[in-house]
Amino acid sequence: MKKIAVIGTGYVGLVTGTCLASLGHKVTCVDIDEKRISSLQDGHCPLHEPGLSHLLQSNLLENRLQFSTVLKEAVQGAEAVFIAVGTPENNDGSADLSYVKNAVENLSLYINDGTLIIIKSTVPPGTNQKVQSWMQSRSERTFHVVSNPEFLREGSALNDFFYGDRIVIGSTDLKAGQFLEEIYRKLKTPRLLTDPLSAEMIKYASNAFLATKISFINEISSICEKLGGDIEQVAQGMGMDSRIGEQFLRAGIGFGGSCFPKDTKALVQVAKETGHPFKLLSTVMDVNERQKNLLVEKALKRYGSLKGKNVAVLGLAFKPNTDDIRESPAVSLIQRLQKLEANPTAYDPVVKSIPFCPVSDSIHEVLTGADIAMICTEWSSICDLSLDVYETTMKEAVLFDGRNCYAPEDFEGRNIEYHSVGRQAYE
Ligand code: NAD
Repeated sequence: MKKIAVIGTGYVGLVTGTCLASLGHKVTCVDIDEKRISSLQDGHCPLHEPGLSHLLQSNLLENRLQFSTVLKEAVQGAEAVFIAVGTPENNDGSADLSYVKNAVENLSLYINDGTLIIIKSTVPPGTNQKVQSWMQSRSERTFHVVSNPEFLREGSALNDFFYGDRIVIGSTDLKAGQFLEEIYRKLKTPRLLTDPLSAEMIKYASNAFLATKISFINEISSICEKLGGDIEQVAQGMGMDSRIGEQFLRAGIGFGGSCFPKDTKALVQVAKETGHPFKLLSTVMDVNERQKNLLVEKALKRYGSLKGKNVAVLGLAFKPNTDDIRESPAVSLIQRLQKLEANPTAYDPVVKSIPFCPVSDSIHEVLTGADIAMICTEWSSICDLSLDVYETTMKEAVLFDGRNCYAPEDFEGRNIEYHSVGRQAYE
């Protein structure tokens, strides 16, 4: 059992802290957000993440997990401190390290001799070195800084923690790396021990590669649409090749979330600073921007104008099983519809509200009287919805499916017009 502090209680910090407590460690999670900490102290989980609420409450009851706004308390006696604060994007697309710097500077005031500092936040290659110099300039203590990027996926975060594909440990000090391995001792996940810069690059390169796979299949889907092919069949055939693999070959209205968009942009900036422009990745981002507009473009082609149209937007979260709407394609779709003077209303099973559009948790309610429905997130409550519902509730049953939840054949004999991605429309 180790005494551990985790700075930041967002998706990564809260999942990491809770799961480390489940491994038997004594964990204190710290955040500057007082409301968040007080609700966590009461056992309320602020995130929609399957299984997290239950695990959080059981660890609180067992006294292995604590929450605090007082860094000094959390850090005193801690053998290891995980940094899991946000690294949002600056205006130029580079990573904003101010939260990391702030956390490190505060930490330097209270850290014990010999403490291990573990960078979990996604940071540009070279940040580990920066963290060391920030610490050295403010503290006389001895410490080690290890890079340990996080690969969890929102919606399956607990499974990813306990049964992940790899644990990457970037350290220049063998003992520091071994100490972190000791923290993860109970996990059977394969380890990769490397230097800090390579560890930082593994995270960026992995996200950039997955984003590239998505934009690649979206490009193929546009060509399929023009030529008359079926992207689902094409993706299936490609994915059967074990060198390619079937994951991340789903054509749709593009990637969103708090990681892929910002991490791809940050890597483009990192590359630019080295004097080697990452042209491929810049194009991946351009393709994604175009893809986010796809459903509105299709609707404009179909109607000429969307002015006054009541549009049911189905799904707000950037992917199913999360309430995260950061960079969600649904959000930009709604904003575009509003610019075109259409009237969007959104359905999502877990996102309760957004400031600029009415939201309901009843799919029937948003479909009733709608002229057009647009699927943005492949929630099962949307994909499993009987087609009868579109036929019986909408004013005109016209469906634009941005996630290929249905197959065109499902519409045979139906009074529904169906447009999807990379396949022929059913009219
Ligand atoms: P988040 O924005 O949800 O949470 C960050 C938290 O840190 C917030 O609660 C904020 O109040 C807190 N914070 C900021 N400064 C602080 C300080 N000085 N002291 C204490 N708390 C502070 O972020 P997230 O989604 O958890 O992501 C964190 C990092 O992990 C980012 O670098 C992100 O790129 C990376 N990451 C995220 C995911 C994901 O799926 N969300 C996956 C892998 C990696």
